[in-house]
Amino acid sequence: MPSQLNLYDLTREELRQRFVRWGFSPFHTERLWNYLYLELADSFAAMPDLPAKVRARLVSETQIGVLPTALETDSRDGFTRKYLLTLTDQEKIETVLMRFTGRVTACVSSQVGCAMGCVFCATGQMGYTRHLTPGEIVAQAVHVARALRPKSPAGKCHRLGDTSARLRNVVLMGMGEPLHNYDAVMHAIDILRDPNGLALAGERITVSTVGVVPGILRLAQEKRPLSLAVSLHAATQAERVALVPVAKKWPLDELMAACRTYSTETGRRIFYEWTLIEGKNDSPGQAREVGRLLHGLPAQVNLIPLNPTAGYAGAPTRSEAARIFQRILADEFGLPSTVRQRRGIDIAAGCGQLAVG
Ligand code: SAH
Ligand code: SF4
Repeated sequence: MPSQLNLYDLTREELRQRFVRWGFSPFHTERLWNYLYLELADSFAAMPDLPAKVRARLVSETQIGVLPTALETDSRDGFTRKYLLTLTDQEKIETVLMRFTGRVTACVSSQVGCAMGCVFCATGQMGYTRHLTPGEIVAQAVHVARALRPKSPAGKCHRLGDTSARLRNVVLMGMGEPLHNYDAVMHAIDILRDPNGLALAGERITVSTVGVVPGILRLAQEKRPLSLAVSLHAATQAERVALVPVAKKWPLDELMAACRTYSTETGRRIFYEWTLIEGKNDSPGQAREVGRLLHGLPAQVNLIPLNPTAGYAGAPTRSEAARIFQRILADEFGLPSTVRQRRGIDIAAGCGQLAVG
């Protein structure tokens, strides 16, 4: 790990305190913060307005934790770009830029690998290496924001090269289980939300969890402004354990109780994710089980047709089965749902396809 302080690890208040300790004016904190998050500066050389003594201290004791790009791949769909980024210890992570009509989303990682072992997920198949630091999470969002900047070199792909958009959405749906790395993720979110910085709205930051019950209960208690997605995939304990091994530790009834507490405490709905696997969890009967499970809860279901991964032989649901599933949720249970657009599959940038060798 780096011995120097990573500036992306600090909230603006932490940076201000550091400057006070160093005897620098708070005014310079704001200047540095603007350089980091409005101008998206990637070096101290790009900060001409800082006094020499401030710059000298920063150069000797801190670093801007920019993550070098090891590989950048554009999908043929013209909307998706995947970055392989190198961390200071040479570990690698993946970050995805997704462009939907009218919005850009950064899909960021929270860990190198994942310890949860979901059978159909490439990250789960590679196992767990380590947590990311707050700065490493923030750096991924900055990386995407920088790619959208007008003065960044236009991408090879025309639509990705459209520079009018700014980053408004961040989803913690890359590699890793965000609630397994709770403190670092929440610290990073505080930095992303800073109104004088990237200024992301809390509800446009989505934390997706496999169902880490203590984390959900802590979120309920702390009432943090963010959107929560819970990966359900099955509506009975036996079926869920077969797909999501950690369901043994946090059984479905405990998970649903935690979700109920979350929605009661925060007044927010939860997005329930359901990876649709042909013949496994896509039958009309299973749709009714989800409907009964979520009945009366503020919920939206996000259906994700299975994306291929090397370690799992299942097939994605046919679109007709997905439509029937949706119709049952809507007509019989009044549950809104969406089917996730399949994007970036050719470059393995879809849900659950992120992994590093
Ligand atoms: N660890 C978190 C967030 C990362 S995964 C979680 O599990 O929620 C983001 C979403 O992609 C999750 O809902 C996950 O279940 C889903 N997913 C994983 N592998 C997939 C695959 N092969 N095809 C489609 N969705 C997948
Ligand atoms: Fe980890 Fe989420 Fe993949 Fe499960 S689906 S292995 S929790 S990243």
